[in-house]
Amino acid sequence: MVLITGGSKGIGEGIVRDFAARGWSAHFTYHNSHEKAECLEREFSNVYAHHADVTDYQTAKAIVKEVTNQHGKIDCLINNAGITKDKTIGFMNESNWRDVIETNLTGNFNYSKFVSKQMMKQKSGSIINIASISGMIGIPGQANYSASKAGIITLTRTMAKELGPFNIKVNVVSPGFIETSMTEGVNYQDMLEGAPLKRVGQIGDITGVVHFLTSSEADYITGQNFVVDGGLSI
Ligand code: NDP
Repeated sequence: MVLITGGSKGIGEGIVRDFAARGWSAHFTYHNSHEKAECLEREFSNVYAHHADVTDYQTAKAIVKEVTNQHGKIDCLINNAGITKDKTIGFMNESNWRDVIETNLTGNFNYSKFVSKQMMKQKSGSIINIASISGMIGIPGQANYSASKAGIITLTRTMAKELGPFNIKVNVVSPGFIETSMTEGVNYQDMLEGAPLKRVGQIGDITGVVHFLTSSEADYITGQNFVVDGGLSI
């Protein structure tokens, strides 16, 4: 059983679809995209939608309890939910800062905390966090987002060290520029000029790596950052 945060669209939806197609029971959270979430749930008999704001600690606790009661265990957690509120630092207001940190970083903590307690009881599990190359190199206009994603990368390494003795693997995937609603309207042609592979990433470029990390081939990998950016950050 897999729990995915922010599974109603974009990369998260792709991850839900990939797990469902492989026969996993896939539970996902969504926030605003009610219709999309309902459609996704109707399309698959093994997909379950949960309305939740990832920033809500008590809701995270309740959802983890509910899915654990239903399935007896959680094999995999994908912390994917994320937002951007881009402004250069002088123009970034308090809510731009807080909203992004709360959703991207605190949301990750909320689900990691409750799921890891369950995985420690099971003595098995895999947690995959979705960060960004923005959290590695820093991107102008994204101080809030870059800080939240850098936080996710070190959160991942810390959790890998704490949870490894319980046979729980924790890894992070850092996408570059992927075509989703998050990047709609962004003029990325200039950015791609300097990228070795000269193309924008697709959702399947990320789901493929997530797929690998949840397979037995990745059993000896933990605490690693998988950069999927067509070489943009090198
Ligand atoms: P989308 O905007 O397409 O999807 C974001 C998802 O997160 C939606 O399902 C949305 O749910 C959910 N979400 C947002 N806020 C909340 C919240 N408060 N509570 C619960 N769910 C929430 O983005 P992408 O698919 O592009 O991004 C997915 C992840 O990948 C993010 O973490 C993003 O930072 C990361 N990423 C994306 C890149 C890109 O180029 N696209 C590059 C690098 C990283 P709903 O619609 O229901 O509100």
